[in-house]
Amino acid sequence: MRRPMVAGNWKMNGTRASVAELIEALRQQELPAKVEMVVFPSCVHVSQVVSGLEGLPFSAGAQDCAEQSGFGALTGETSATQLSDAGCEWVLVGHSERRSLLGESDEVVSRKFAAALSCGLKPILCLGESLEERQAGQTLEVVGRQLAHVIAEVGIAAFEQAVVAYEPVWAIGSGLTATPEQAQEVHAALRKQLAREDQRVADGVRLLYGGSVKADNAAELFGMADIDGGLIGGASLKANEFGAICRAA
Ligand code: 13P
Repeated sequence: MRRPMVAGNWKMNGTRASVAELIEALRQQELPAKVEMVVFPSCVHVSQVVSGLEGLPFSAGAQDCAEQSGFGALTGETSATQLSDAGCEWVLVGHSERRSLLGESDEVVSRKFAAALSCGLKPILCLGESLEERQAGQTLEVVGRQLAHVIAEVGIAAFEQAVVAYEPVWAIGSGLTATPEQAQEVHAALRKQLAREDQRVADGVRLLYGGSVKADNAAELFGMADIDGGLIGGASLKANEFGAICRAA
């Protein structure tokens, strides 16, 4: 069986003081042992979060990594090697904000996914369609293409270490959530695509839903057959709300 997972993407938020407060507030939450829980602070807070989470059932991840591993002359970038050294276990790759605002292509995302794995970080591959793509009936084609690029780059076996997060762009930060049925349709299609390569891997991969998940819609979404948890943005910055979402998984 797949272990449920809830991940909090803190995006470009927080100060040292607010991060310390949030960790303290998470400490007060009742947290479910059966759920794997991860938080993704800004890179500048990773070390603080890794030490602050000691004794708590959360691991830490980064929101992005460079395509290049190791060290080198690449001003402003952070490699998976460095993130792993800082105590990250996970890394998000291909978040839609990076794809759309920073121009990350499927090729770049695939190389970042490979870089993460080569440094022992577990990637969460984010994918999803825009509103125009959904309205044009292209949702399954778009997410299928995004996933296919990564499978072609790293091979299906790599997905034993990875998680996939379906985040429809129109649902991110908009207050518009995909209905459980809309999300399930996409998750089922993604799992089928993985199963065409390897049934066993497909059965084991966790598929998260992201996009305006809140405490009051989480249980319904997580109750769908192919939705194994969530990737949470705004609501992960509030410990009470995030705790409730974790308990819903
Ligand atoms: P919101 O939960 O704020 O919609 O963000 C979702 C997201 O982008 C998580 O990566």
